[in-house]
Amino acid sequence: MTTLAPPIRTATVRSIHTAATDVAPSTMHALVYHGPNDKGWEEVAKPTLIDDTDAIVRVDATTICGSDLHILKGDVPEVTDGRILGHEAVGTVEAIGVGVKHVKVGDRVLVSCITACGTCRFCREARYGQCLGGGGWVLGHLIDGTQAEYVRVPFADTSTYPVPKGASDEEILMLADILPTGYEIGVLNGHVQPGDVVAIVGAGPIGLSAILSARLFSPSHIIAIDLANSRLDAAKRFGADLVINNSHQDAVAAIMELTGGLGADVAIEAVGTPATFELATTLIRPCGHVANIGVHGKPATLHLETLWTRDITITTGLVDTYSTPTLLRLSTGGQLDASRFVTHHFAMDDMLDAYDTFSRAADTGALKVVITADARDAGVTQR
Ligand SMILES: [Zn+2]
Ligand SMILES: [Zn+2]
Repeated sequence: MTTLAPPIRTATVRSIHTAATDVAPSTMHALVYHGPNDKGWEEVAKPTLIDDTDAIVRVDATTICGSDLHILKGDVPEVTDGRILGHEAVGTVEAIGVGVKHVKVGDRVLVSCITACGTCRFCREARYGQCLGGGGWVLGHLIDGTQAEYVRVPFADTSTYPVPKGASDEEILMLADILPTGYEIGVLNGHVQPGDVVAIVGAGPIGLSAILSARLFSPSHIIAIDLANSRLDAAKRFGADLVINNSHQDAVAAIMELTGGLGADVAIEAVGTPATFELATTLIRPCGHVANIGVHGKPATLHLETLWTRDITITTGLVDTYSTPTLLRLSTGGQLDASRFVTHHFAMDDMLDAYDTFSRAADTGALKVVITADARDAGVTQR
């Protein structure tokens, strides 16, 4: 990544603000990380174009991800003091660098959680999550992110998507991270086929996105497994055929009974603990697919002493977001109701309240909170 840029670069900016009476403010508000359990909604400098391929996007709607909570626990040491968090947004392009060819000032765009240089070895294979040219997961991680009034988006042409006409900000916002993650890393890596029995371990937002997108392939049964009845209720609403609370029910026995003793065709791990990974590898049938989505902080045991003869395929992955154009078509075509993840709305100035609500999801029932620049849109949703 280029970290230093000659100040003269700003002279090449094409900005919507051309009239002298319409000068953009030079400061903004943003959610700033200061170390474990230390964050603030603060006045900071507004971002400016650094590289020719950058865009400055006015954030119209953003959200909070489970990985933001991991950062705030101190689990992601690459995130340093002063970093603006957030890697999901829908916004309006305010300025573009001279190297931006397709994105225009005034465009409404989806800012993806994954940035893509578009030219490195992995980007050429649509493996944008592994980008070697300064992309990958950088927003709200290695560079300032989207929980702000404005964000600088590198490689704007290959890292944003036009918002389809008539689509709402909040439904498209769900395509920034959770939907492509559940679909690519869970459903597509797991090779879900029509008629399959699909077991989804973990019914948080990512597990729910796997349920929603698995249904595109008409599995015979989707089984959601979780320890919390509130999450299992959500799983039912999202289309699970069977829910199992494995605090007091035997998930493996229930799946063996359903499948004549064979096990599930596909197991999707959407929690990220050793126990849930081992459960996913226990309930799978011979020749089945185990797709790990969960973010693991500790080693998990792989029981090769029982698995080595069973022809299991296990996949891991960071989302690449190559499926975003497909998901946009499914969403606007009505085959995928992305807006159903949204449980709460907040105005940007209430960002800290939004964090509080999202971090207490077990009490608040929060799935995804939408934070909008326009306070008129704010207010708790009755879903
Ligand atoms: Zn995320
Ligand atoms: Zn790349």
